[in-house]
Amino acid sequence: MTTEVITHHIVARYSEESTKGTIEALHFGEKAKLERSIKTALVCLGIAGVCLCIPGAHFVLVPLTLLLSPFIIYKVHSQDTKIVKAEIACPKCHKPLEVLSSQERYPLFENCGECHREIRIDKA
Ligand SMILES: [Zn+2]
Repeated sequence: MTTEVITHHIVARYSEESTKGTIEALHFGEKAKLERSIKTALVCLGIAGVCLCIPGAHFVLVPLTLLLSPFIIYKVHSQDTKIVKAEIACPKCHKPLEVLSSQERYPLFENCGECHREIRIDKA
């Protein structure tokens, strides 16, 4: 399985009020996760290569980049979903709710940009 977009029906709740909507999320297969990890590793090596050209700072930046890169690569590899689009209204003020979370892990908690209430988002 490579990357595919899956649409989920969701429910946003605040106390007893709720609204329904949809979330589109990319689901990465093993091959796509491996490709993303390789790209991340190459970017980390590129950053370390650029840092080599900075006099003085390269003593710190190059080892720091090379030490942090396994953690960054692990983080990218462990991400199996990525939210690309969310269409849902705030259950309290009924304005469109912006979903800032990148991973699709339910329940999601988002703050409404209008009324600043914490909204719980679950699968419908
Ligand atoms: Zn609101």
